Amino acid sequence: MRVLISGATGFIGRYLVPRLIEYTHEPVVWARSKSKAEKLFGAVRVIGDLSEIGNDEQIDAIINLAGAGIAEQRWSVARKRYLVDSRLDTTWALNGLVERLDVKPEVYISGSAVGYYGCQDDDRLLDEEAEVEQGFTHQLCAEWEQVALLNRAKGVRVCLIRSGVVLGEGGALAKMLPPFRLGLGGPVASGKQWLSWIHIDDEVEIICMMLTHTHFSGAYNLTSPNAATNADFSQALAGVLSRPAWFRVPAGVIRLMLGEGSELLVRGQRVYPQRLLDAGYKFAFDDLRTALKQILEPDD
Ligand code: NDP
Repeated sequence: MRVLISGATGFIGRYLVPRLIEYTHEPVVWARSKSKAEKLFGAVRVIGDLSEIGNDEQIDAIINLAGAGIAEQRWSVARKRYLVDSRLDTTWALNGLVERLDVKPEVYISGSAVGYYGCQDDDRLLDEEAEVEQGFTHQLCAEWEQVALLNRAKGVRVCLIRSGVVLGEGGALAKMLPPFRLGLGGPVASGKQWLSWIHIDDEVEIICMMLTHTHFSGAYNLTSPNAATNADFSQALAGVLSRPAWFRVPAGVIRLMLGEGSELLVRGQRVYPQRLLDAGYKFAFDDLRTALKQILEPDD
């Protein structure tokens, strides 16, 4: 399949593009910086503007991952607007492409996150039908999903990937590692809040499956079936690194540093991949320690 990808130069995309090639798909990368993407992906076709795709060109699938980093800065009003706009603008632009293509893509896979469910303070498992808690992350994901879903009216199969924290070399784990490597890691706040995670291999495999398995449609939780509490996650990470996990970071400090964005760390979500399991997907990594070991000690 010829697969157009936005946000391909990011953490997930860097794993996804080579995997697509292994599956003999033909990726086309839409990037803000052509030269950066060309350096990363070598012979892969890179476009800097969607106008480089003609109306008569065949695009079989779209994977929409682009968006500014959620946890990179404090959530000021302006930053929140930017987080939303950076996703909606790209999604609307891709919708415009679908509109003008003579032959519509078969499938449009669009990003979302477990933040769709808002944040929770209890231990309920959240499947795709779970009640959501209102708040910024819900609003962001819901708007992003709704714009992507408009493509259904053009006969395109739309899959929404509500990802948990994706564990691989880079991404959120790279940000967590430095204090843990120094033996200064530990739980955040009470440590009882849930962290829904997925190994990058599963994330990429599921996206690839959605391309070709036509029964996939609608929203899916991309999380391992075994979310961890923040305390268990800290223990597992410290254990794999053979370091202690003694240093608790008080909620107040995180709130002071991150403002409203601290919700992501101090509260969190216990998300369950009900629809993937119903579809028969077998996770390569459903055990957190095994997943972390594979990433941090790949030769063992
Ligand atoms: P990254 O932040 O690593 O990469 C996202 C890509 O989006 C960038 O490489 C860039 O691509 C593009 N981008 C960045 N800023 C902007 C902007 N202001 N406007 C338009 N495009 C921009 O993200 P990930 O690969 O980690 O994740 C992909 C998507 O999945 C993101 O939208 C993220 O929110 C979501 N997600 C990720 C999770 C994770 O744990 N990694 C968890 C849940 C959701 P380029 O410069 O090539 O255009």
